[in-house]
Amino acid sequence: ETPVLFADDLVKTYEVGGGLFSKGGTVRAVTGVSLKLAPRKTVAVVGESGSGKSTLGRMLALIEPPSAGHLAIDGIDVTGVDGHRLKMLRRSVQMVFQNPYGSLNPRQTIRKTLEEPLLVNTDQTPEERRAAALAMLAHVGLRPEHADRYPHMFSGGQRQRIAIARALMLHPKIIVLDEPVSALDVSVRAQVLNLLADLQEEFGLAYVFVSHDLSVVRHIADEVLVMYLGRVVERAPKEAIFADPRHPYTRALLSATPVADPTRKRERIVLTGELPSPFAPPPGCVFNPRCPIAFDRCRVEKPEPRGSATHVAACHAVEAETM
Ligand code: ATP
Ligand code: MG
Repeated sequence: ETPVLFADDLVKTYEVGGGLFSKGGTVRAVTGVSLKLAPRKTVAVVGESGSGKSTLGRMLALIEPPSAGHLAIDGIDVTGVDGHRLKMLRRSVQMVFQNPYGSLNPRQTIRKTLEEPLLVNTDQTPEERRAAALAMLAHVGLRPEHADRYPHMFSGGQRQRIAIARALMLHPKIIVLDEPVSALDVSVRAQVLNLLADLQEEFGLAYVFVSHDLSVVRHIADEVLVMYLGRVVERAPKEAIFADPRHPYTRALLSATPVADPTRKRERIVLTGELPSPFAPPPGCVFNPRCPIAFDRCRVEKPEPRGSATHVAACHAVEAETM
């Protein structure tokens, strides 16, 4: 089966000007990330703040071009594509952000917001657009009378439903969800996650689900990519990430996640220190300054991803232990 989304060795760097207290230079936000996403599947991207998740998401959603690497949507290479063809490809990938209040126009009714993508991208009549907007509201669990209200009249969960509805208006194949439930109350999270699961089924969507919290992706993901300082340090099917985490960073993230079964004992790994500066990544393994099991080799040599076709980790200790 052709992957609906294929990324090979994506890199994103930013040139940052110096300020009063900083020298400026090149930020390596994403380094060498590859992924393959099948239709109707979900890949989760997890990692702490600053690990490059949103930058990767924006590249996958065709919002920002990669500095290097290749990207294909539905088997079509998008590298170097522009103009009308890029516009057409962009319709098939939509992005939903953490803060739906910031991404919805406060002066516009919900109906206008939902009709806008159709107005810009199709030649549908006003009646058709109106009908499509009302139908999509129903799909996300809102009522027709909500259409003529403004964003401030809704709760956080309802606003995220509206943002999801807007993303669906052009019937994309892929949705990049950047921390879609992180700003929501815990009680509302499960409802929005369930809605996403239903919509995936109904519309045959593939998801890239970005989250700093592994417990959020526990139910929705098929595969998990764990990112650290712009790199994927481990990639595996979700079950394997939870049952057999190999990279010490993944283990640390997991040990900070509540377990479903509290009788099950689990090692507790507490990471010390901050994420290093992306201007000056440490030599050797990028994780070595914070790694509880780092040894000499980790400080000089970058570990290559190793493992099976489905489960890889980039760690010298893992190589020695299991492969
Ligand atoms: P968070 O969990 O806080 O959202 P993240 O994993 O999404 O973090 P990114 O926002 O992708 O991380 O940022 C990765 C790195 O790239 C950070 O060091 C960030 O400062 C830098 N960065 C991101 N966007 C830009 C930009 N437009 N210009 C300069 N640097 C950027
Ligand atoms: Mg982010």
